[in-house]
Amino acid sequence: MSSPHIGVLSIQGDVREHLHALERAGARSSAVGSQDALRDVDGLVIPGGESTTISKLAVADGLMEPLRSARAAGLPMFGSCAGMIMLADRVEDARPDQEFIGGLDMVVRRNAFGRQVDSFEVDLSVPDIGADPFRAVFIRAPWVESIGADVEVLARVQRGGDESTIVAVRQGPLMATAFHPELTGDARIHELFVEMVREQA
Ligand code: GLN
Repeated sequence: MSSPHIGVLSIQGDVREHLHALERAGARSSAVGSQDALRDVDGLVIPGGESTTISKLAVADGLMEPLRSARAAGLPMFGSCAGMIMLADRVEDARPDQEFIGGLDMVVRRNAFGRQVDSFEVDLSVPDIGADPFRAVFIRAPWVESIGADVEVLARVQRGGDESTIVAVRQGPLMATAFHPELTGDARIHELFVEMVREQA
C-alpha cells in the first residue's frame, strides 16, 4: 500500500489543514463524518479543536461507539491537541460528562499549559523524524502527566529548570501530539503516521 487512504474526523476542528498535510505526506485523504466513511479508511486523524465539543457531537451523531470499535479493531489513529485528549485512557480537568475514544495508556491534562500561557511555539527534538528540530505550535494544549509501560515517548518540551513534559507519544497503532503539526508546513509528523498506517496494513 504505497498511498494509504487516511481520514480526518470532521466533527469540529482544523480538518482542512490535516487533509493537506496528509496529502503532502504521501497519503490520500478525505474527511470522515459518518460511520460509512469510517469503514473506508486505513487510518484516522483526530484533529485539534475543542475536545468537549468533539466529544459531545460524536455522541450526538452516533459516532462515539463506531470510533471506539474501530480503535479496538486496530485502526491506526493520530490525535493532535484535542485529538490527543480524545485518545487518552484518562483525562484530568475534563468535563464530568465528557466521553473519549481512549486507547493510549496515559493520563493527559486538558489546558495544562494554559495556566502559564495560552499559546506558544517551540523547536522540539523528535528523534523519530530526524535530527532537525520540529517547530511545534501549542494552542491551549494538553500535556501528558504519566504513561504506561507500553507507551513510547516521541517528544518532550522543556519547562524551565530541569523540568520537562511529555508532548508526543506512540503506542502500537496510536500516536498523539499535544501540538499542531498540521500548521507549520513540515510534514514529518504526518509522514511518521503514514508510515505507521502502511506498516499496519
Ligand atoms: N483545549 C482544547 C481542549 O480541551 C484543545 C485545544 C486544541 O485542540 N487546540 O479540547
